[in-house]
Amino acid sequence: MRTTPGWRATGPGTLRRTPLYRRDLRADDLAVRVDYCGLCHTDLHAVRGHSPDAPQPLVPGHEFTGVVTETGSGVTAFSVGDPVAVGNIVDSCGTCPMCEAGQENFCHSFPTLTYGGTDRRDGSTTLGGFSREYVVREAFAYALPAGLDPAAAAPLLCAGVTVWEPLRSLGVGPGSRVAVAGLGGLGHLAVKLAVALGAETTVLSRTEAKREDALRLGARELIAATDTARMAAARDGFDVVLDTISAPHDPAPHLRLVAMDGTLCLLGHLGRITVEVMDLLVGRKRLGSAGSGGRRATAEMLRFCAEHGITADVEVLPSARIHTALDRLARDDVRHRFVLDMSDLD
Ligand SMILES: [Zn+2]
Ligand SMILES: [Zn+2]
Repeated sequence: MRTTPGWRATGPGTLRRTPLYRRDLRADDLAVRVDYCGLCHTDLHAVRGHSPDAPQPLVPGHEFTGVVTETGSGVTAFSVGDPVAVGNIVDSCGTCPMCEAGQENFCHSFPTLTYGGTDRRDGSTTLGGFSREYVVREAFAYALPAGLDPAAAAPLLCAGVTVWEPLRSLGVGPGSRVAVAGLGGLGHLAVKLAVALGAETTVLSRTEAKREDALRLGARELIAATDTARMAAARDGFDVVLDTISAPHDPAPHLRLVAMDGTLCLLGHLGRITVEVMDLLVGRKRLGSAGSGGRRATAEMLRFCAEHGITADVEVLPSARIHTALDRLARDDVRHRFVLDMSDLD
């Protein structure tokens, strides 16, 4: 076993710096020095819900970038010194129809999550990227293209690919009318990616407060929910509405904005909702969801981001300020993603 310093949850909302164990490298493993790790809502929920009596350890963090420091004997795609990125899944069965289709994120026997997952070979609980080193199968590490800032690229690996897959699968391209609800970690990347794909992109927000920000990100306009006249005029106006709002909410107002045969894709809040079928019937509207990405889409997204110079808007904090970052994320006080700099763990 190898040890590395990291941030482990000790109770609801609290983490403590502690040595963590990592497995010795298997033939197809890489050891990665974690330089930057994004902070997403999943991490916040996991830490806040953590009981000190929980049977499994919790080390959050599942969107990170770093550098390969060691390779297993059978590794072919990476060398020591290569910049890499790792997202929220680190293994899958590799043989089910989803894995064969390149959708490891939907593996029938569930993908191995970067933290809180169960390693498929030794049964241990996976510990996340809020640490200085991670050991990962090379198949689930991605070459970080040159030109992408490694801190600002980290959130592409969870937030980015989560909005990328539905944009691609829904055929968004030049001329598509896309609306993005919510302008947090997912939403701001959805706007940047949709704009770069050529879509006419609009932001849906509660108020006018984020208008300037929306336009800066490339959106044509912002429609505030409080502007009832504008909301009514936008009825049936979007081929794709990506809803990235993390709090529970009624999907009906967004469904009204979906064009005939268009899709409302729910990405932010994954709990139970109530839908009036009539809101789908009128206009043959579709309701969908998505999450994370397969290996192929993740690599494709990184290449696209490098070509178009897209990274997240980030606020980088030393990892020791993890509690500040968690508190501020809970209040939505970040534009648009916190990234922790892990170098203070040395
Ligand atoms: Zn995430
Ligand atoms: Zn599978």
